[in-house]
Amino acid sequence: MFGPAAIENLPPSPMVAKVEFDRDGIHHGFLRMPYSRDDSAWGSILIPIAVAKNGDGPTALLTGGNHGDEYEGPIALFDLARSLKLDQVSGRIIIVPALNYPAFRAGTRTSPIDKGNLNRSFPGRPFGNPTEKIADFVTRDLLPMADIVLDYHSGGRTLDFLPFAAAHILDDKRQEAACFAAVEAFGAPYSVKMLEIDAVGMFDTTAETMGKVFVTTELGGGGTASARTAQIAKRGALGVLRHAGILKGAPEKRPTKWLDMPGDDCFTFSEIDGLIEPLVDLGDAVVKGQPIACAHPIDRTGVEPFTYTAKMDGVLAARHFPGLVKAGDCIAVLGVLET
Ligand code: CA
Repeated sequence: MFGPAAIENLPPSPMVAKVEFDRDGIHHGFLRMPYSRDDSAWGSILIPIAVAKNGDGPTALLTGGNHGDEYEGPIALFDLARSLKLDQVSGRIIIVPALNYPAFRAGTRTSPIDKGNLNRSFPGRPFGNPTEKIADFVTRDLLPMADIVLDYHSGGRTLDFLPFAAAHILDDKRQEAACFAAVEAFGAPYSVKMLEIDAVGMFDTTAETMGKVFVTTELGGGGTASARTAQIAKRGALGVLRHAGILKGAPEKRPTKWLDMPGDDCFTFSEIDGLIEPLVDLGDAVVKGQPIACAHPIDRTGVEPFTYTAKMDGVLAARHFPGLVKAGDCIAVLGVLET
């Protein structure tokens, strides 16, 4: 965690925003990060950014590609940046469709340059590796401008999720209520009150600590998008922006099912390397003790599969995507439907 004093002592970010934040209009530009390397001595990385500003009003920061192999966010945000009409905006919308741009271009969760996982690199370091520099720029240059933040995620190449928007259980209940109201405005088929298993270093945690209204998503996975999840992502941005009063019009009210993730019992991790056989599918209801997946040993025949059972009643909210698992992989996440 960081404090204001720690921030003041840091040098300025080496990243430069080549886009207008304060002038009315729709501006397309780049965040330029110097990146000296073998094939480009004085080269840089250009991260696309769009800013739409019209008069006074709140600021929304919309980000995709925090992980490079999650596609609903980039689809929704490249589309929004292209299609926004300025007369529909009051306030400001900052759009970064592919935040960890090197990871996005490589189609990988982490950056191919430094193996940095952007969502474990916050609040970042101005003198760190490229991934840490992106986190630092977001923390010290973008987040202070924002009132509300929507950071898109999906399952990536190794997980697949029920499509949901989510916010975290927070100590500040007023802030928490504002976050859950924005989740509802996103209007995904499912909405989640999220418990993180690994909250340190996340964009979410940094934004929440700064008092921002923060919404995240998990909209599918498997390293691709579907027609259905792309539409959910596009509608969700409009819903959040209308809810915040930054886009004209009332959010369309869409039914959503609230899911809780009440504790460690939600998560199942593989204990062996093997071939995963799903025994239930996403959205299926399960009861405590029910087999939900088994892992077949693959180094010999004639061996019983290792069976994983539900540690609680719930619905299957996420599953491992590739057919082979390694010991320690997350193979299932259960949620509890609120009644
Ligand atoms: Ca993710």
